Amino acid sequence: MSDLHIRIEGRAGRITLTREKALNALSYDMCLAIEDALDRWRDDPAVALILLDAAGDRAFCAGGDIAEMYRTGMDGDYAYGRQFWRDEYRLNAKLAEYPKPIVSFLHGFVMGGGVGLGGHCSHRITCETTQVSMPEVGIGFVPDVGGTYLLARAPGRLGEYLGLTAARMDGADAIHAGFADSFVPQEGWEPLKARLCETGDPAEIEDAAQRPPDSALAAQQPEIDRLFGGETLTDILNLLRNDGSAFAEKTLKSLSRNAPLSMAVALDMIHRLRTKQHLTIRDALELEFRVSFRIMEHGDFLEGIRAAIIDKDRTPHWRHALDRVPAVDVSKMLMPLGRDKLDFRERAMKIGFIGLGNMGAPMAANLAKAGHGVHGFDVAGTKAEGVTSVASAVEAAQGADVVITMLPNGAILREVAAKIIPAMAKGAVLLDCSTVDVDSARAVAVMAEEAGLGALDAPVSGGVGGATNGTLTFMVGGGADAFATAKPLFDIMGQKAVHCGPAGNGQAAKICNNMILGVTMIATCEAFALADKLGLDRQAMFDVVSTSSGYSWSMNAYCPAPGIGPQSPSDNGYRPGFAADLMLKDLRLSQQAAEAADADTPMGQAAMELYRRFVEDEDGKGMDFSAMLPRFEKRGRG
Ligand code: NAD
Repeated sequence: MSDLHIRIEGRAGRITLTREKALNALSYDMCLAIEDALDRWRDDPAVALILLDAAGDRAFCAGGDIAEMYRTGMDGDYAYGRQFWRDEYRLNAKLAEYPKPIVSFLHGFVMGGGVGLGGHCSHRITCETTQVSMPEVGIGFVPDVGGTYLLARAPGRLGEYLGLTAARMDGADAIHAGFADSFVPQEGWEPLKARLCETGDPAEIEDAAQRPPDSALAAQQPEIDRLFGGETLTDILNLLRNDGSAFAEKTLKSLSRNAPLSMAVALDMIHRLRTKQHLTIRDALELEFRVSFRIMEHGDFLEGIRAAIIDKDRTPHWRHALDRVPAVDVSKMLMPLGRDKLDFRERAMKIGFIGLGNMGAPMAANLAKAGHGVHGFDVAGTKAEGVTSVASAVEAAQGADVVITMLPNGAILREVAAKIIPAMAKGAVLLDCSTVDVDSARAVAVMAEEAGLGALDAPVSGGVGGATNGTLTFMVGGGADAFATAKPLFDIMGQKAVHCGPAGNGQAAKICNNMILGVTMIATCEAFALADKLGLDRQAMFDVVSTSSGYSWSMNAYCPAPGIGPQSPSDNGYRPGFAADLMLKDLRLSQQAAEAADADTPMGQAAMELYRRFVEDEDGKGMDFSAMLPRFEKRGRG
């Protein structure tokens, strides 16, 4: 990649930022490439330490590349930014927790994302040109990339001061504040790098390091501690206003430029983290992600970028006046995120997706959109957005962490499984989301497990709309480990995944659910036809039943009467939605299973027989399964 130079020299894995024209601003691709290199070198015995530096005179790294975030955020698409931050923060934690020494050479500007990159390494070197800062509050954001971890641990109230004013630190200041470790004059850098590559021993730094010059920040510290001891932003502003010193006045001026909400939130974050026992960088990153997740939608971030970088008018219109930030707005930013919480899980899985039909194509597209690498195959040659098309099912399966199948029936599933299982990597998971018979699901699971794979049957409910919007429900059978592997994928493709027990139980849940659905849809349709003949208005019928004991999903969410209730296929000439043929398939599966298990299912049997007649003998083929209503409308008892 042209923005990075990644190589091994002697005993060192070397990463050099080479995006000089953009002051080495960190792009998403650079983040991912750096992470890949760290992953590769973690267990490589040839690499004893990592050396991280940057080309050009002006900057180690002047921040994250926020142009794309701005563009997507202005379109109301917050997913890109959230994914960038998720992956960047995982890299920040990885740098801090890396099992081998990482030596960062911090020259020129080291700002925001640059601190995240160079500021958590085990050996951080500064020089005469170093200028470190966390300037985020100036663009309506908060210190992130683990910056709040450093700020919370800085001596006295320096964290509050640096986080709220975005003040710059020189090399000596950065060492005093805990953002760096050593001072090595720049003329000594190349010889030091050469020694580090040769020996792989970070002790080389001690020989090259000099006593840093006196830190101006250290000299100011008593004043800063006194002025930044307040509990809230307003307390700090009052202390500064009442102080009257030149320093207080200058500081007040810089605070008045920054986003008030950002400063109030940053202050709360630093306070929270400082009082935490056994504080780790993950605690800080997790808290920061709560803000990043919300900042484009509910904070001043987009306006801040506009004013600073896009229009460059430097007159941002912040949401709040300087000391008028309600406490509730701060706590809203910092509320836990629930299932969206930063979890430091690895970014992208390699996914093979086989069967890109009505359901499979949008499901695969959602996985690709979420950042996973998806290779897709369909015999009909269909494609899905963001998915790399490959020439065979085997090719889609090779090297995949998870292979997903979304196929018409059990016979095709067995045939495809027999081809792909030998091609899959040991430990990978075969995840079948088709609706198939329980026996096929169990047979495929046995085949997969014998080959050292995890296997899940995870049929879905929610239809094409749910597949497109990522709101499917998954009913899952199979082992707990495979379920845990697939869980992040379920979270992308759906809103709920229920682990129903061992292999085949997902299909069992699905066919029981759909047997109920078939029966209630018929009951709803025949009741409407009866109501018509009794002269009862359809709207009145809906209003009563949808709030009385006859209610069901068929009535309330998928009303078979056109123009009544929420939008459904009945409003679209009964174009499927969920085709009557597929309902017939599911009812057949339920009766096949009932037969095998000796279960008495007379209503399921009757529903199957009705759908069979409708699809095979009448005009139901290709119609939605709710088209039973016009069928009943046309008929009498005879
Ligand atoms: P579909 O017919 O649109 O898609 C199936 C795809 O599989 C087709 O594109 C077909 O070309 C492909 N295919 C067939 N054989 C193949 C092979 N050997 N290798 C590769 N690809 C092959 O059907 P769909 O609506 O997407 O449904 C898929 C599954 O999901 C079915 O089991 C169905 O019962 C279930 N399901 C569908 C819905 C729905 O509303 N459509 C809802 C829930 C569950």
